[in-house]
Amino acid sequence: MSTQTHSHDIHMQPYDKTHSFINDQHIWQTIESSANPTQQQVRHVLEKAQECQGLSIEETAILLQNQHAELDDALFNVAREIKNKIYGNRIVLFAPLYVSNHCANSCSYCGFNADNHALKRTTLKPEQIRNEVRVLQDMGHKRILAVYGEHPRNNVDAIVDSIATMYDCKDDKGGEIRRINVNCAPMSSTDFARLKTAQIGTYQCFQETYHRDTYESVHLKGKKKDYLYRLYAMHRAMEGGIDDVGIGALFGLYDHRFELLAMLSHVEQLETVCGVGPHTISFPRIEPAHGSEISEKPPYEVDDECFKRIVAITRLAVPYTGLIMSTRESSTLRKELLELGVSQISAGSRTSPGGYQDSEQDQHDAEQFSLGDHRPMDDIIYELVTESNSVPSFCTGCYRKGRTGDHFIGLAKQQFIGKFCQPNALITFREYLNDYAGEQTQKAGTELIERELTAMGKARERNVRTCLAKTDAGERDIYL
Ligand code: SAM
Ligand code: SF4
Repeated sequence: MSTQTHSHDIHMQPYDKTHSFINDQHIWQTIESSANPTQQQVRHVLEKAQECQGLSIEETAILLQNQHAELDDALFNVAREIKNKIYGNRIVLFAPLYVSNHCANSCSYCGFNADNHALKRTTLKPEQIRNEVRVLQDMGHKRILAVYGEHPRNNVDAIVDSIATMYDCKDDKGGEIRRINVNCAPMSSTDFARLKTAQIGTYQCFQETYHRDTYESVHLKGKKKDYLYRLYAMHRAMEGGIDDVGIGALFGLYDHRFELLAMLSHVEQLETVCGVGPHTISFPRIEPAHGSEISEKPPYEVDDECFKRIVAITRLAVPYTGLIMSTRESSTLRKELLELGVSQISAGSRTSPGGYQDSEQDQHDAEQFSLGDHRPMDDIIYELVTESNSVPSFCTGCYRKGRTGDHFIGLAKQQFIGKFCQPNALITFREYLNDYAGEQTQKAGTELIERELTAMGKARERNVRTCLAKTDAGERDIYL
């Protein structure tokens, strides 16, 4: 594996893992005291957000409590502005790879719960992992999110081995996985240190709900019942040296206003204690899952309009944090959410172990939940290029150049993303066009790259054109 990572020192402040840093009472007071804000109050927060310095929890609550429908457009416009200013029109693509649906926990919303005896359980063997990775490589993917149920089979050693297998699948058609993010159960800081040796990108773990009573009522058995152990997962990951972490809440379990403000408290806590906030925030919404009654009718269902506002408000509150949207959402909604601030999406996904290799089989007996978008990757890319004017990016340069954790966020804050990310997006997109795209996508993509090049400063344009020429001549994995 050619991957090179650089580690940064993480200086942790002392913290008390026996107490929650989520203050329910304060969050509810903040929500109540911002009820029915005036138009002027809302506009004032929107103006502040335009400075791209983020928002306080109190300011965010004002946006969440806005009842003036006519100001929704103003909110969406500011979200679009911030997205454009900081991220441009790039959109990073990845695919989840479900390694194991063995799980000893019983989360009432998830199809993998241990009480779902109808589920076909699989933990992929190395050869099966290789088969899955080959399918993903042949689609053009360079970035994987490896997903595991919480089970003794999926201990840190097994996870590390499976990741090594994935990185090792390089083929002679230019296929290779260059970044593997991991979504697995939280572990001790010693185990996190071991996980880091596998050269992972982001460690991702969602609190599901920050509301403790609700948390306890939906996590019925197994290690995940322990709210505080999960709440401090990212602190331990940082102690283990992993400085790229991704947080999230599963929308539908509890009041979305509480969840969003609590998630921002989590961001503040990580910034204070670990010196760096999360690299990404994810927005899973509960999808119907076989073997889970609650998933059919979530207690706090979030509709599409509300979901758009949640994403837009988060974009304003934490402008420099990557926002991830999964295949859980329909293609129409994803298109809107991209404009409002989403910076990474999954494409061509399957949510069952072995689901890529065996896409013909009826996977419902092994999948975690059903998906909203079933289209092949090349169709999604074609739509991104032609309908959203987005540059699909397969870039994995940052963590391999050491631009991670506080270092990455520092760069982003200085708006240096354009210096690396935009050129790397174009170079990796050109790789995709040369190696994997259908004819239509090739044509539309080539025109898009040309438009992007002419919009750059001359020096950068020259530099990128040189990299593109090398790519066209067969060189691969060029990044700044
Ligand atoms: N087992 C690990 C854990 O629970 O953290 C990681 C894998 S778990 C499959 C990954 C995520 O899937 C969970 O954190 C949860 O947010 C999400 N999830 C579970 N059931 C879901 C459902 N019915 N719809 C959408 N997302 C779901
Ligand atoms: Fe297991 Fe994770 Fe699903 Fe819970 S969410 S049942 S821990 S796989």
